[in-house]
Amino acid sequence: MKNYHTHTYRCHHAIGFEKDYIEQAIDQGFTTLGFSDHAPWHYDSSFKPFMRMDETDIDDYIFTLRELRETYKDRIDIKIGFEAEYFEEKMDWMKEVINRYHIDYLILGNHYDGSDEDGRYYGMPPQDLSSVTRYCDQVIKGMETGLFSYVAHPDVIYYNQHDQRQLAQLERLCHKAKELDIPLEFNMLGYLHHRHYPSTPYLKMVREIGNKMIVGCDAHEASAIDGKKMKTVIDRLKQEGFLLTDEIFFLQ
Ligand SMILES: [Zn+2]
Ligand SMILES: [Zn+2]
Repeated sequence: MKNYHTHTYRCHHAIGFEKDYIEQAIDQGFTTLGFSDHAPWHYDSSFKPFMRMDETDIDDYIFTLRELRETYKDRIDIKIGFEAEYFEEKMDWMKEVINRYHIDYLILGNHYDGSDEDGRYYGMPPQDLSSVTRYCDQVIKGMETGLFSYVAHPDVIYYNQHDQRQLAQLERLCHKAKELDIPLEFNMLGYLHHRHYPSTPYLKMVREIGNKMIVGCDAHEASAIDGKKMKTVIDRLKQEGFLLTDEIFFLQ
C-alpha cells in the first residue's frame, strides 16, 4: 500500500515527527510513504501562517526527510512533497522552491480563496455559487500547470449539495481532471471523522465520469496511517466500480 498524503508537526495542526509516521507506515505494511505537509508560501507582509509551515522551516523539513529516506531505504520508499494551493501570484515562487529542493511531487489542496493571509477558508459554510465557482476555477488552473500529481479532497469546498448550479461547477472540475488524467482523492480523514467530504454527490460524479481515484490518509497524526482501514476502503470502492490507482507522477 502507498500513501502520499502525510503531514508533520510543522503545519501547527498536526502532531508527530516524520520518524513516527515512517515507523507506523512500516508497521502497517506500507511500501511507500509520501510526505505532503502543508506547503509554505512567501508573504510580502509580516503575516505568520497558522496552518502551514513557515517559509524558514523548508530547509529542516527537506533535510530531515532526506536523511530519513536514506536511513529507511531498505524498508520503505519515502517521497518528499507538499500539499499546496494554487495561489496564482505565488506560483513562480513555488516553482523556484520545487527546483531548488528537488521536490518529488505536489498534491493540490485548495483551502483558501486567494491566500490564507486575506482569503476565506473554503471548508466552512456558507459558500455561494461564486465562491464555489472560484474554488473550481483555481483547482482547474492548478491542474493545468502540470505541477500537481493529484487533487486532495476536491470537495473540501462546503458546497450546497442540493444546488444544481454548484454541482455543475464540481462536475466541471471532475471532467477537467479526467481530461488531464489527474487522480482525485478519497480522503480518509474526512471519511473517518465524518466531515462534509468525501460527499455523496462528489463520489457519484467521480464514478460516472470515470475519474481515477486515489485513497489518501491525510494523516495529521501517525496513527492515521492505518493499513487495515485503508484496505477496507479500497476494497469497497473497487467493488462499487471506482477506478482506483496508487500511481502518481513525480516532478523529478
Ligand atoms: Zn491539515
Ligand atoms: Zn492534507
